[in-house]
Amino acid sequence: MRYRSTRGASPAVGFGDALLGGLAPDGGLYLPESWPQLPPLAQSGGPTGSYQELAASVMAPFAEGEIDAVDFASLIADSYAAFDHPEVCPLVRIGERHWLLELFHGPTLAFKDVALQLVGRLFDHELRRRDERVTIVAATSGDTGSAAMEAVRGLDRIDIVVLYPHGRTTEVQRRQMTTLEEPNVHAVAVDGTFDDCQDLVKAMFADSAFARRVRLGAVNSINWARVMAQIVYYVWAQRRVSEAIAGPGRALPVAFCVPTGNFGNVYAGHAARRMGLPIRRLMVASNTNDVLTRLIRSGELAVAEVVPTLSPSMDIQISSNLERLLHELFDGDGAATAGFLTRFRSHGRVALSGDQHRRLAAEFSGACLDDDDTVEVMRRTYERTGRLVDPHTAVGVGAAERLRRSDEPLVTLSTAHPAKFPEAVIRATGTTPELPAHLGDIMDRPERSVRLPADLEAVRRYVQEAGSA
Ligand SMILES: *Cc1c(COP(=O)(O)O)cnc(C)c1O
Repeated sequence: MRYRSTRGASPAVGFGDALLGGLAPDGGLYLPESWPQLPPLAQSGGPTGSYQELAASVMAPFAEGEIDAVDFASLIADSYAAFDHPEVCPLVRIGERHWLLELFHGPTLAFKDVALQLVGRLFDHELRRRDERVTIVAATSGDTGSAAMEAVRGLDRIDIVVLYPHGRTTEVQRRQMTTLEEPNVHAVAVDGTFDDCQDLVKAMFADSAFARRVRLGAVNSINWARVMAQIVYYVWAQRRVSEAIAGPGRALPVAFCVPTGNFGNVYAGHAARRMGLPIRRLMVASNTNDVLTRLIRSGELAVAEVVPTLSPSMDIQISSNLERLLHELFDGDGAATAGFLTRFRSHGRVALSGDQHRRLAAEFSGACLDDDDTVEVMRRTYERTGRLVDPHTAVGVGAAERLRRSDEPLVTLSTAHPAKFPEAVIRATGTTPELPAHLGDIMDRPERSVRLPADLEAVRRYVQEAGSA
C-alpha cells in the first residue's frame, strides 16, 4: 500500500515512512491511495473470533509488503494483552437497540490506548529495522499524552515530549503524564490552550531542518497508523451488534455516534465505511466547542474561542483530521484542499460549496451538548441503567438520542472510563467512580514536569535537549 498527502505536493510513500513521518513534507496528512475492502467474516476469525484476529485481518492490507504478517499479528497480540477485558473493546447494551462500545480498557483508561499501544510497537519495530531513533513530540488536551507516553515508555529508540495546556487537564489526566518514571518520557505544561500546544507541535514539524536534526516523530491523531488501528473497532462493533440482533454471520447496517474533537475517531468510522462496512450514518457529537457540528449543519467552517468544558479532550476548535475528509470533498485535489485550509487559517472562516455541503450532510449528522446537558445525560444514564459514564461518553449518548431516527441499531463510542473524570461524575450522580487497581496509588506518586511559555523557541530548545540526553 502507498500513501499520498492530502495536499498533493509530496511524493507517495510506503507504510513505514507514513508511520514515522506523521505529517507529509508538504504539510498534508497521509491517506492510502485506495481503500482495501474488508475481509469476509470467515477470513477474519469468524463469528466467534477474537478482537486480535479481526484486527490482524482488517489492518493487514495497510502494511502489506512492509511488515511481515506473522510479526504484525504478534505486535497486535502484545498491544492488547494488557487490556483489562478479554474482548478488548466490549459492547454493553444501554437501551433499545443502543449499545456502548467501551474503548477504555487499556492502561490509561481512554480510547487512545487502542491505537497507541499498537502504534508504539509499530514505531519500535520499524526503528529497529532501520537502526534509527526518534523524538516524538505530541500535543495533548489530556488523554493523548498519557496514552502516547504509556505506549513508548522504556523503549530505548524513542524519547517523547508531550505538551499539555497548563491547568486545563484534570488531575488524573495530569498525573498519568507526570508520574511515569522512565527517563525517556517528558511532560511539559504550556501556558496556553490545547490549540496553542498543537500549533507549537505543527511549527516544529514545519521547520524541516529542525525536524530532521532532532528526528521528530508524531503520534498525534494525524498519524495514519492511529486512524488505521481505530478502523478495527467499528468493524468489531458492527459484527457483534448484527450478531446480537440477527444471529451469527448476519450483517446489518449500524449507526455510530462518536464524541469527537480532532475528528480522528469519527474519521476512522468513515474509513471503515469506505472499506465497505455498512454504516448508514455517522453522528458527530460535540461539546460547546461545536465547530464540527456547525460545519455539518451550515457548510461553513468557522473558529471560535476555545471554551473549557467538562469534556476537556474535546475542547478543540481546529480539528486536524478534518483535512482527510476535505481532501475527499475536493475529489482528491490536493491543491484545492490546501487552498481551502490556507483561507481558513487566514480568515478564520470558509465555506464549502453547496454540493460539498450536501455530500457531507448525507453521510454525517451532528449535535452538541453544553455542560448542563452533559451532566443531565450522566444523571439519566445512571438512573436508567446503573452505569456511570464519563462526560465525553455522555456527550455521545446525548447526541445519539437527539439524532437517532427510527430504530436502527446504534452504537455510541464510550471513550473514557468514568474514573478519569471523577469531579463531573460526582457532580452528576453523587457517586464516586472507582479507579481500576493498577492506578489506585496515582494520587500519591511523585510528579515530574516542566512549565514553559507558549513560545516556539523555548519549546524547541527543550525538545532538542530531551532528545539528545
Ligand atoms: C481524544 C478524546 C476524544 C476525541 O477524540 P478525537 O479523535 O480527537 O476526535 C473523545 N473522548 C476522549 C475521552 C478522548 O480522550
